[in-house]
Amino acid sequence: MEVFTLLALFTFGIVVGSFLNVLIDRLPQGESPWRGRSHCDHCQKNLAMLDLIPVLSFIFLGGKCRYCHKALSIQYPVIELVTGLLFVFTFLYTSQISTSNFELRTLVLFIIFCSFLVIFMADLKYQIIPDEMVIMLVLGSLIHNFSTNSNISIYQYIVTGIGAGLFFLVIFIATKGRGMGFGDVKLALVLGLFLGFPQIIIALYLAFLTGAGVSLILIILKKKKLKARIAFGPFMLSGAVISFFYGGRILQWYLNFLR
Ligand SMILES: [Zn+2]
Repeated sequence: MEVFTLLALFTFGIVVGSFLNVLIDRLPQGESPWRGRSHCDHCQKNLAMLDLIPVLSFIFLGGKCRYCHKALSIQYPVIELVTGLLFVFTFLYTSQISTSNFELRTLVLFIIFCSFLVIFMADLKYQIIPDEMVIMLVLGSLIHNFSTNSNISIYQYIVTGIGAGLFFLVIFIATKGRGMGFGDVKLALVLGLFLGFPQIIIALYLAFLTGAGVSLILIILKKKKLKARIAFGPFMLSGAVISFFYGGRILQWYLNFLR
């Protein structure tokens, strides 16, 4: 693997990551990501080109706004770096299993994982799962599954998606929207569409397990009241990523364990 290719991808990912930061903070407020300049969260001053260089500006400014000297959110450089790493790992993954449609599969996985990242942060920060990203995931999943050389027909993915969505819809109705948001219903549907069966089961199982674990820890630490809602989207997305890459191995391990 050429180091230059990976370095170029990493840099490209960092630049894309700075756009994802814009989406994370604007989509939940219904603001257009294309209009209006980026500004400091504290003093509202418009930021100049020099303040907006991904990662580097944050380092050179010492993590502080040039104008009001208040601390800039660590979210910006973290999301940029994570996106850079994401591009590198996705590329390494698709080139390892490379069959046909290599470029298309890599590109569409970039789009899917970027959408994951935006939904993860938007749900964590604002408890909102932006519809724009859900639509992106529907299209991405369909293209991904069409371009995969597998024996599984596209209908199985669609049925899995509808099944996962209905399962969450039942929880949503039964808890009167207090246990889950409607955004979680939509997210379950697209994750089913993306992963298919039985990977979706593994993803949701991991999500409930880690979600319950983290909630318990937060309640013990008295950070959250029992009734306070903890965003479930981030757990579902983490479960989906693990299931996508390791679902086959987890299933194998589990079946061996049962014997
Ligand atoms: Zn400022």
